[in-house]
Amino acid sequence: MAHLLSRDDANAGRLTLDRAIVKDTPTPERTTLFVLSTSQTNEGRGTFFKVRVFLLLTTLLVVVFVAAGDVRRRKGRNDWDRTLEVAIVLVAPRPLDPKAVAALRDRVPSLERRLAEEAARHRPGLTSPFKFRVAGPVVSDVSAPKLAGTGPSDLASHAWALRSYTKAIDEAAGLDEGAFDARIYVTATPPTSAQKAWIEGESEQGGRIGIVAVELDEGMVDLALAVIAHETFHTLGATDKYDPGGHATIPAGLADPTSVPLYPQLRGDVMARGRVISPGSEQIVERLDDLGVGPETAREIGWRRE
Ligand SMILES: [Zn+2]
Repeated sequence: MAHLLSRDDANAGRLTLDRAIVKDTPTPERTTLFVLSTSQTNEGRGTFFKVRVFLLLTTLLVVVFVAAGDVRRRKGRNDWDRTLEVAIVLVAPRPLDPKAVAALRDRVPSLERRLAEEAARHRPGLTSPFKFRVAGPVVSDVSAPKLAGTGPSDLASHAWALRSYTKAIDEAAGLDEGAFDARIYVTATPPTSAQKAWIEGESEQGGRIGIVAVELDEGMVDLALAVIAHETFHTLGATDKYDPGGHATIPAGLADPTSVPLYPQLRGDVMARGRVISPGSEQIVERLDDLGVGPETAREIGWRRE
Protein backbone atom coordinates (compact mmCIF):
# COMPACT_ATOMS: atom_id res chain seq x y z
CA MET A 1 0.00 0.00 0.00
CA ALA A 2 2.97 2.24 0.40
CA HIS A 3 3.39 3.75 -3.02
CA LEU A 4 5.62 6.69 -3.55
CA LEU A 5 4.08 8.94 -6.13
CA SER A 6 6.30 10.59 -8.69
CA ARG A 7 4.57 13.70 -9.93
CA ASP A 8 5.49 15.44 -13.11
CA ASP A 9 3.69 18.62 -13.87
CA ALA A 10 1.97 18.02 -17.19
CA ASN A 11 2.49 21.52 -18.53
CA ALA A 12 5.96 22.07 -17.16
CA GLY A 13 6.95 18.55 -18.16
CA ARG A 14 7.18 19.22 -21.87
CA LEU A 15 10.61 18.52 -23.21
CA THR A 16 11.41 20.17 -26.45
CA LEU A 17 14.73 20.09 -28.19
CA ASP A 18 15.84 23.35 -26.74
CA ARG A 19 13.76 23.99 -23.65
CA ALA A 20 12.30 21.98 -20.84
CA ILE A 21 11.13 22.78 -17.35
CA VAL A 22 10.26 19.73 -15.34
CA LYS A 23 9.13 19.43 -11.77
CA ASP A 24 8.99 16.17 -9.89
CA THR A 25 7.50 16.25 -6.45
CA PRO A 26 8.13 13.08 -4.50
CA THR A 27 5.40 12.61 -1.97
CA PRO A 28 5.28 10.72 1.29
CA GLU A 29 3.98 7.22 1.55
CA ARG A 30 0.27 6.83 1.17
CA THR A 31 -1.40 6.44 4.54
CA THR A 32 -4.70 4.83 5.31
CA LEU A 33 -6.44 5.83 8.49
CA PHE A 34 -8.81 3.56 10.30
CA VAL A 35 -11.04 5.29 12.82
CA LEU A 36 -12.95 3.20 15.28
CA SER A 37 -15.93 4.87 16.89
CA THR A 38 -15.57 5.46 20.64
CA SER A 39 -19.04 6.83 21.16
CA GLN A 40 -20.35 3.54 22.44
CA THR A 41 -21.15 3.75 26.14
CA ASN A 42 -20.77 1.00 28.73
CA GLU A 43 -24.41 0.01 28.61
CA GLY A 44 -24.08 -0.62 24.88
CA ARG A 45 -21.12 -2.91 25.29
CA GLY A 46 -23.05 -6.09 25.10
CA THR A 47 -22.97 -8.85 22.57
CA PHE A 48 -23.75 -6.43 19.73
CA PHE A 49 -20.72 -4.30 20.59
CA LYS A 50 -18.41 -7.32 20.73
CA VAL A 51 -19.70 -8.60 17.40
CA ARG A 52 -19.15 -5.16 15.89
CA VAL A 53 -15.57 -4.94 17.16
CA PHE A 54 -14.92 -8.49 15.99
CA LEU A 55 -16.18 -7.67 12.50
CA LEU A 56 -14.13 -4.47 12.34
CA LEU A 57 -10.96 -6.23 13.44
CA THR A 58 -11.60 -9.09 11.02
CA THR A 59 -12.08 -6.58 8.19
CA LEU A 60 -8.89 -4.81 9.21
CA LEU A 61 -6.95 -8.07 9.22
CA VAL A 62 -8.29 -9.02 5.79
CA VAL A 63 -7.32 -5.57 4.43
CA VAL A 64 -3.81 -5.89 5.89
CA PHE A 65 -3.49 -9.44 4.54
CA VAL A 66 -4.63 -8.45 1.04
CA ALA A 67 -2.36 -5.37 1.06
CA ALA A 68 0.64 -7.43 2.18
CA GLY A 69 -0.06 -9.90 -0.63
CA ASP A 70 -0.24 -7.08 -3.17
CA VAL A 71 3.06 -5.60 -1.95
CA ARG A 72 4.66 -9.05 -2.29
CA ARG A 73 3.30 -9.51 -5.81
CA ARG A 74 4.43 -6.05 -6.86
CA LYS A 75 7.94 -6.64 -5.55
CA GLY A 76 7.87 -10.01 -7.32
CA ARG A 77 7.70 -8.20 -10.67
CA ASN A 78 11.33 -7.13 -10.16
CA ASP A 79 12.43 -10.79 -10.03
CA TRP A 80 11.95 -11.07 -13.81
CA ASP A 81 11.18 -14.76 -13.68
CA ARG A 82 8.31 -14.22 -16.12
CA THR A 83 7.16 -11.78 -18.79
CA LEU A 84 5.34 -8.79 -17.30
CA GLU A 85 1.93 -7.98 -18.76
CA VAL A 86 1.37 -4.26 -19.25
CA ALA A 87 -1.87 -2.69 -20.46
CA ILE A 88 -1.75 0.45 -22.56
CA VAL A 89 -5.23 1.89 -22.13
CA LEU A 90 -5.93 4.58 -24.69
CA VAL A 91 -8.28 7.34 -23.57
CA ALA A 92 -9.35 9.94 -26.10
CA PRO A 93 -11.28 13.12 -25.23
CA ARG A 94 -12.43 13.08 -28.85
CA PRO A 95 -12.17 10.42 -31.54
CA LEU A 96 -8.61 9.70 -32.64
CA ASP A 97 -7.34 9.19 -36.14
CA PRO A 98 -7.77 5.42 -36.60
CA LYS A 99 -4.54 5.35 -38.60
CA ALA A 100 -2.63 6.71 -35.59
CA VAL A 101 -4.12 4.06 -33.32
CA ALA A 102 -3.32 1.33 -35.85
CA ALA A 103 0.24 2.65 -36.19
CA LEU A 104 0.66 2.55 -32.40
CA ARG A 105 -0.54 -1.04 -32.25
CA ASP A 106 1.81 -1.95 -35.10
CA ARG A 107 4.83 -0.52 -33.29
CA VAL A 108 4.21 -2.26 -29.95
CA PRO A 109 6.20 -5.39 -30.97
CA SER A 110 9.13 -3.11 -31.85
CA LEU A 111 9.00 -1.59 -28.36
CA GLU A 112 8.94 -5.07 -26.83
CA ARG A 113 11.93 -6.09 -28.95
CA ARG A 114 13.92 -2.95 -28.12
CA LEU A 115 13.37 -3.42 -24.38
CA ALA A 116 14.16 -7.13 -24.68
CA GLU A 117 17.50 -6.29 -26.30
CA GLU A 118 18.29 -3.91 -23.46
CA ALA A 119 17.22 -6.46 -20.85
CA ALA A 120 19.50 -9.11 -22.35
CA ARG A 121 22.38 -6.62 -22.31
CA HIS A 122 22.03 -6.18 -18.56
CA ARG A 123 20.79 -9.60 -17.59
CA PRO A 124 21.80 -12.35 -20.02
CA GLY A 125 19.00 -14.85 -20.45
CA LEU A 126 16.21 -12.35 -19.89
CA THR A 127 14.77 -12.39 -23.38
CA SER A 128 11.15 -11.30 -23.01
CA PRO A 129 10.67 -8.81 -20.17
CA PHE A 130 7.44 -7.15 -21.36
CA LYS A 131 4.22 -7.91 -23.18
CA PHE A 132 2.23 -4.75 -23.91
CA ARG A 133 -1.45 -4.99 -24.80
CA VAL A 134 -3.34 -2.04 -26.22
CA ALA A 135 -6.93 -1.48 -25.01
CA GLY A 136 -9.38 1.14 -26.20
CA PRO A 137 -9.45 3.83 -27.30
CA VAL A 138 -12.11 4.77 -24.79
CA VAL A 139 -13.74 8.04 -25.76
CA SER A 140 -13.97 10.05 -22.53
CA ASP A 141 -13.50 13.68 -21.65
CA VAL A 142 -13.14 12.90 -17.94
CA SER A 143 -9.67 14.02 -16.92
CA ALA A 144 -7.41 11.81 -14.87
CA PRO A 145 -7.23 13.04 -11.26
CA LYS A 146 -4.18 15.06 -10.29
CA LEU A 147 -2.47 15.01 -6.93
CA ALA A 148 -3.43 18.21 -5.12
CA GLY A 149 -0.97 18.00 -2.23
CA THR A 150 1.26 15.71 -0.23
CA GLY A 151 -0.68 15.38 3.02
CA PRO A 152 -2.32 12.09 4.07
CA SER A 153 -5.80 13.38 3.18
CA ASP A 154 -4.57 14.51 -0.26
CA LEU A 155 -3.07 11.08 -0.89
CA ALA A 156 -6.18 9.29 0.34
CA SER A 157 -8.57 11.39 -1.77
CA HIS A 158 -6.27 11.08 -4.79
CA ALA A 159 -6.14 7.29 -4.38
CA TRP A 160 -9.92 7.18 -4.23
CA ALA A 161 -10.32 9.45 -7.29
CA LEU A 162 -7.73 7.44 -9.23
CA ARG A 163 -9.49 4.21 -8.35
CA SER A 164 -12.83 5.60 -9.58
CA TYR A 165 -11.25 6.92 -12.77
CA THR A 166 -9.46 3.71 -13.70
CA LYS A 167 -12.47 1.56 -12.80
CA ALA A 168 -14.71 3.52 -15.18
CA ILE A 169 -12.13 3.39 -17.98
CA ASP A 170 -11.47 -0.34 -17.41
CA GLU A 171 -15.18 -1.10 -17.67
CA ALA A 172 -15.52 0.91 -20.87
CA ALA A 173 -12.46 -0.82 -22.35
CA GLY A 174 -13.53 -4.28 -21.17
CA LEU A 175 -10.26 -4.62 -19.29
CA ASP A 176 -9.63 -7.12 -16.49
CA GLU A 177 -7.34 -5.16 -14.18
CA GLY A 178 -6.20 -8.29 -12.38
CA ALA A 179 -4.65 -9.64 -15.57
CA PHE A 180 -1.93 -6.98 -15.67
CA ASP A 181 1.23 -6.18 -13.75
CA ALA A 182 0.89 -2.51 -14.65
CA ARG A 183 -1.66 -0.35 -16.46
CA ILE A 184 -0.73 2.84 -18.24
CA TYR A 185 -3.68 5.11 -19.01
CA VAL A 186 -2.79 7.21 -22.01
CA THR A 187 -4.82 10.29 -22.75
CA ALA A 188 -4.11 10.85 -26.42
CA THR A 189 -4.86 14.07 -28.27
CA PRO A 190 -3.94 15.29 -31.74
CA PRO A 191 -0.66 17.27 -31.80
CA THR A 192 -0.96 20.99 -31.12
CA SER A 193 2.14 21.89 -33.14
CA ALA A 194 4.63 20.34 -35.50
CA GLN A 195 7.25 20.29 -32.75
CA LYS A 196 7.43 16.97 -30.98
CA ALA A 197 6.98 17.24 -27.24
CA TRP A 198 7.26 14.77 -24.39
CA ILE A 199 4.34 15.18 -22.04
CA GLU A 200 4.54 13.23 -18.83
CA GLY A 201 1.90 12.46 -16.28
CA GLU A 202 1.81 10.92 -12.89
CA SER A 203 2.79 7.41 -11.95
CA GLU A 204 2.81 5.32 -8.84
CA GLN A 205 6.46 4.78 -8.04
CA GLY A 206 6.58 1.04 -7.53
CA GLY A 207 2.80 0.79 -7.95
CA ARG A 208 0.61 -0.47 -10.75
CA ILE A 209 -0.84 2.59 -12.41
CA GLY A 210 0.64 5.19 -14.70
CA ILE A 211 -1.20 8.18 -16.07
CA VAL A 212 0.22 9.90 -19.08
CA ALA A 213 -0.80 12.36 -21.76
CA VAL A 214 0.64 12.15 -25.25
CA GLU A 215 0.12 13.90 -28.51
CA LEU A 216 -0.58 11.29 -31.12
CA ASP A 217 -0.54 11.15 -34.84
CA GLU A 218 1.11 8.66 -37.17
CA GLY A 219 4.43 10.49 -36.96
CA MET A 220 4.52 10.56 -33.17
CA VAL A 221 3.83 6.93 -32.38
CA ASP A 222 7.42 6.05 -31.39
CA LEU A 223 7.65 9.06 -29.08
CA ALA A 224 4.31 8.11 -27.47
CA LEU A 225 5.57 4.55 -26.89
CA ALA A 226 8.80 5.91 -25.37
CA VAL A 227 6.72 7.96 -22.90
CA ILE A 228 4.61 4.88 -22.13
CA ALA A 229 7.79 2.87 -21.49
CA HIS A 230 9.01 5.67 -19.17
CA GLU A 231 5.82 5.49 -17.09
CA THR A 232 5.92 1.70 -17.05
CA PHE A 233 9.43 1.86 -15.63
CA HIS A 234 8.21 4.27 -12.92
CA THR A 235 5.71 1.65 -11.78
CA LEU A 236 8.62 -0.78 -11.45
CA GLY A 237 10.60 1.59 -9.24
CA ALA A 238 12.74 3.50 -11.73
CA THR A 239 13.41 7.17 -11.00
CA ASP A 240 13.69 10.11 -13.36
CA LYS A 241 17.18 10.75 -14.77
CA TYR A 242 16.85 14.35 -15.86
CA ASP A 243 17.68 17.60 -14.11
CA PRO A 244 15.33 20.51 -13.41
CA GLY A 245 16.17 21.82 -16.89
CA GLY A 246 14.95 18.57 -18.44
CA HIS A 247 18.39 17.38 -19.52
CA ALA A 248 19.83 13.97 -18.78
CA THR A 249 21.80 13.66 -15.57
CA ILE A 250 25.35 12.45 -16.11
CA PRO A 251 26.23 9.60 -15.81
CA ALA A 252 22.97 8.10 -14.42
CA GLY A 253 20.94 9.31 -17.40
CA LEU A 254 23.21 7.78 -20.03
CA ALA A 255 22.16 4.53 -21.67
CA ASP A 256 25.80 3.54 -22.09
CA PRO A 257 28.07 5.44 -19.67
CA THR A 258 31.08 3.27 -20.54
CA SER A 259 31.05 3.77 -24.30
CA VAL A 260 34.23 5.08 -25.89
CA PRO A 261 34.01 7.75 -27.01
CA LEU A 262 31.32 8.72 -24.51
CA TYR A 263 29.57 11.06 -26.96
CA PRO A 264 27.48 10.98 -28.94
CA GLN A 265 25.49 8.38 -27.02
CA LEU A 266 23.94 5.83 -29.33
CA ARG A 267 20.72 5.83 -27.30
CA GLY A 268 18.91 7.75 -24.56
CA ASP A 269 18.01 6.21 -21.22
CA VAL A 270 14.27 5.60 -20.93
CA MET A 271 14.13 7.63 -17.71
CA ALA A 272 16.16 10.53 -19.13
CA ARG A 273 14.10 11.18 -22.27
CA GLY A 274 16.97 12.56 -24.31
CA ARG A 275 19.95 11.06 -26.17
CA VAL A 276 23.04 13.04 -25.21
CA ILE A 277 24.95 14.16 -28.28
CA SER A 278 27.57 16.12 -26.35
CA PRO A 279 27.62 17.74 -22.90
CA GLY A 280 24.69 20.17 -22.80
CA SER A 281 23.25 18.99 -26.10
CA GLU A 282 20.73 16.21 -26.58
CA GLN A 283 18.00 14.98 -28.86
CA ILE A 284 14.61 13.88 -27.67
CA VAL A 285 14.08 10.13 -28.05
CA GLU A 286 11.58 10.08 -30.88
CA ARG A 287 12.46 6.74 -32.48
CA LEU A 288 12.34 3.42 -30.68
CA ASP A 289 15.79 2.63 -32.08
CA ASP A 290 17.08 5.50 -29.91
CA LEU A 291 15.52 4.15 -26.73
CA GLY A 292 17.89 2.56 -24.24
CA VAL A 293 18.09 1.48 -20.62
CA GLY A 294 21.18 2.56 -18.73
CA PRO A 295 22.79 0.55 -15.92
CA GLU A 296 21.39 2.76 -13.15
CA THR A 297 17.80 2.37 -14.39
CA ALA A 298 18.46 -1.35 -14.97
CA ARG A 299 19.56 -1.66 -11.34
CA GLU A 300 16.46 0.11 -10.05
CA ILE A 301 14.08 -2.29 -11.77
CA GLY A 302 16.08 -5.42 -10.93
CA TRP A 303 17.78 -6.16 -14.24
CA ARG A 304 21.18 -5.68 -12.63
CA ARG A 305 22.22 -6.67 -9.15
CA GLU A 306 25.54 -4.85 -8.70
ZN1 LIG B 1 9.17 10.49 -15.00
